[in-house]
Amino acid sequence: MTSLFEYAPAPESRSIVDIRPSYGLFIDGEFVDGTGTPLKTVNPATEEVLSEVATAHEDDVDRAVRAARRAFVKTWGPMRPADRGKYLFRIARLLQERAREFAVLETLDNGKPIRESRDVDVPLAAAHFFYHAGWADKLEHAGLGPAPRPLGVAGQVIPWNFPLLMLAWKVAPALATGNTVVLKPAETTPLTALLFAEICQQADLPPGVVNIVTGAGETGRAVISHPDVDKVAFTGSTEVGRSIARAVAGTEKRLTLELGGKAANIVFDDAPIDQAVEGIVRGIFFNQGHVCCAGSRLLVQESVHDDVVASLQRRIGTLRVGDPMDKNTDLGAINSAEQLARIRELTAFGETEGATCWQPDGDLPDRGFWFKPTVFTDVSPAHRIARDEVFGPVLSVMTFRTPDEAVAKANNTTYGLSAGIWSEKGSRILKVTDQLRAGVVWANTFNEFDPTSPFGGYKQSGYGREGGRQGLAAYLRSDS
Ligand code: NAD
Ligand code: MG
Repeated sequence: MTSLFEYAPAPESRSIVDIRPSYGLFIDGEFVDGTGTPLKTVNPATEEVLSEVATAHEDDVDRAVRAARRAFVKTWGPMRPADRGKYLFRIARLLQERAREFAVLETLDNGKPIRESRDVDVPLAAAHFFYHAGWADKLEHAGLGPAPRPLGVAGQVIPWNFPLLMLAWKVAPALATGNTVVLKPAETTPLTALLFAEICQQADLPPGVVNIVTGAGETGRAVISHPDVDKVAFTGSTEVGRSIARAVAGTEKRLTLELGGKAANIVFDDAPIDQAVEGIVRGIFFNQGHVCCAGSRLLVQESVHDDVVASLQRRIGTLRVGDPMDKNTDLGAINSAEQLARIRELTAFGETEGATCWQPDGDLPDRGFWFKPTVFTDVSPAHRIARDEVFGPVLSVMTFRTPDEAVAKANNTTYGLSAGIWSEKGSRILKVTDQLRAGVVWANTFNEFDPTSPFGGYKQSGYGREGGRQGLAAYLRSDS
């Protein structure tokens, strides 16, 4: 990439992690063999095979659910809430103590820059456990009824974009509310979940409270359709989310779905342009754009369009794309060959449908899965790159003239997970925010997360909220 400054390489050492050649399933407090054919997980930046991971078949999942049920009935359910809180505090502290190990392992298995796994994923995962630890003995004061009760066994399926953080979003509220868990990590990023299993052992968490079953979609299906699961929580694609909603329909299971997005990031003509450009970059290039709430549609007021796009391109020219283990890297590797193919397919549509594609100069590494930060201008709302979730570092720029037009264009999507507004004017921010059909709206910032703040969407972005008081409700019965 063209760069204002040349940086010497600053690679993080991987010696802190000890990746085993193979991993089993974590059931009832122990690592055990799976009956399926093991999966290989690779480092997407090098295509190096990191480890072989067991695959759970239906009968393995059944063992995990039975272990979770036993723990719910015998230990975790009856435990004093304050004692459950102590375990969660212990897990949170262990995550902090072993933060570097988690960050390095996450970056190796996922491809995200070490700067992000070190400064965002791992600290936020610990923060989720700290936050929920505090709730464990205060649930009757959460405004969810006088004596809310846990649901039982939670079956949880998570994606590959924030492997440890999505685990924390699922496991921490489930345990704090007295439920036990069977969690399936994504097939391309299972390693930090398995390291988390070691943390559970280190924390002396009673066996069966957390069970981790690895595998691909079939394993996920076995988890969500197991008859003794009381609660299903899923984060991933809208397509799989729909199939899960169908599988769960007509059962007693409770369901939360956190699916895709196509967020509008709206820049008004009074916004400080340099600050907005930082927010646009953070909105779409954070985590290579593998973010459900990414600001993938930039709506710029027409009068400042050319200035914003020129500043943005200048700024993108300074982003460093490459070795995720380098502490100076801004954009790492695309998580998998499949995801890279999906990004390529959608950007090809952008060009054939008539939008103008811009990418910075520079070469990408020879091995691994890579995609340059990409900006499409001359985009119309009917183009596929303006409608479909790319889930990659690809921005579609459109314009508007009035606030009403900005709102109409922002809401013109089948999704409704997040949005951003850039303006100097507080009254305008409040008025526009009120009209946006998005679960989270950021003002003069983007991709800011906190465990106290509920996260979730409208329409095809799913239902239910994660985080905050609202997130607790998804794991509690308040009916008596
Ligand atoms: P996916 O929905 O297929 O996978 C997410 C998780 O669900 C994985 O753990 C997977 O093994 C599991 N799964 C797959 N099929 C299942 C089934 N039938 N029943 C139960 N679990 C199942 O997502 P993907 O294929 O990795 O990505 C496809 C697209 O989804 C991406 O391009 C992106 O647009 C979107 N996506 C969104 C998010 C998000 O955070 N909202 C995360 C990942 C992917
Ligand atoms: Mg991997």
